[in-house]
Amino acid sequence: NPLKRKLCLEAENSGAAAGSDSGVKVVVRMRPQNQGEQEGDLVLQKLSADSLAINGQTFTFDAVADVEATQVAIFDLVGAPLVENCIAGFNSSIFAYGQTGSGKTYTMWGPMQALLEDRFSSQQGLTPRIVELIFSRINEIYNEQITDLLDPRKRNLQIREDVKCGVYVESLTEERVCTMNDVKQLLIRGLSNRRTGTTSINAESSRSHSVFTFVIKSQSKSLATGLTSFKTSRINLVDLAGSERQKLTGAAGEQLKEAVTSTDHFTAGAFSVLSNSLCLRECRNLINILAEISKGGKQRHIPYRDSKLTFLLQESLGGNAKLAMVCAVSPAQRCRGETYSTLRFAQRAKAIRNKAVVNEV
Ligand code: ADP
Repeated sequence: NPLKRKLCLEAENSGAAAGSDSGVKVVVRMRPQNQGEQEGDLVLQKLSADSLAINGQTFTFDAVADVEATQVAIFDLVGAPLVENCIAGFNSSIFAYGQTGSGKTYTMWGPMQALLEDRFSSQQGLTPRIVELIFSRINEIYNEQITDLLDPRKRNLQIREDVKCGVYVESLTEERVCTMNDVKQLLIRGLSNRRTGTTSINAESSRSHSVFTFVIKSQSKSLATGLTSFKTSRINLVDLAGSERQKLTGAAGEQLKEAVTSTDHFTAGAFSVLSNSLCLRECRNLINILAEISKGGKQRHIPYRDSKLTFLLQESLGGNAKLAMVCAVSPAQRCRGETYSTLRFAQRAKAIRNKAVVNEV
């Protein structure tokens, strides 16, 4: 199909591919030390633009962003290429992974204050920047939300899958957004309603995964052939729950109970929260299995249905999507163990190969 070839070529030429061919692009971002962390208390050493050392061991990724890296720099690295992918018709996702307090929310959203400001703030994270670029790149956008924080009465919605629609959440409100401001209002409401839990590591940390999804449907007419083609693609921007072992954060018993039993799925304009942080274990397990298979390990059952998170994101994980991961790490001595395991996980995730193709409808 000439159109499909052209779109793929355009995406490749624009440097849009999130990583070479359909590999996962993995960027590690170190956050600055906070007030409680002493000067000299650094466990990570950036060696070059794409490598760092911890415990005397060197890790290499697609890029390593140190404390100097601005929000714009992270956007240029992972956000902008993903938008080009998506406009070319590929499903695209960004996952922020790392322990609580390492900078995932800062990376995906930026501080709430930055969203509330009228001017576009330099502190804004990936999501508002991505949405802004999309609005400047395409004429028409439909916003098909997965879960609804704007209507919290809708709980426990089921995820369904069929040939026509792929994976979706049943009974959701579907809203069309026309301006950046429409999306901003949704983000502010969604972020305000987002469930947070207080842990000893970070009072504002979230114990839930938040997924912001929108669908871009576009129509183009070829001047040469006069034929109209339609393509549709989806971006998932995922701020995962803290990756640390629950013991470490000293989460209260009540919270732990909630983490084990709560599987509510809230729906909002363009924004979803999955309040079961335990889904992260299934997500991690899935990434390990996919990495093994991609490295030539034997084919085996891929447990997408083990949790809501993996079911919802199955196209991003080893499916039809371009995937980028920002692994957020803390420079602090006391986080050394978690930082090391985040880097080990990031290295395994790099092995995954997705099968991204342009979606034509
Ligand atoms: P997480 O979502 O991983 O739990 P946060 O994004 O809430 O972590 O970050 C914890 C704290 O560190 C927040 O106060 C945040 O503003 C700050 N922070 C994180 N990364 C950076 C950064 N790159 N530059 C400045 N402040 C940061």
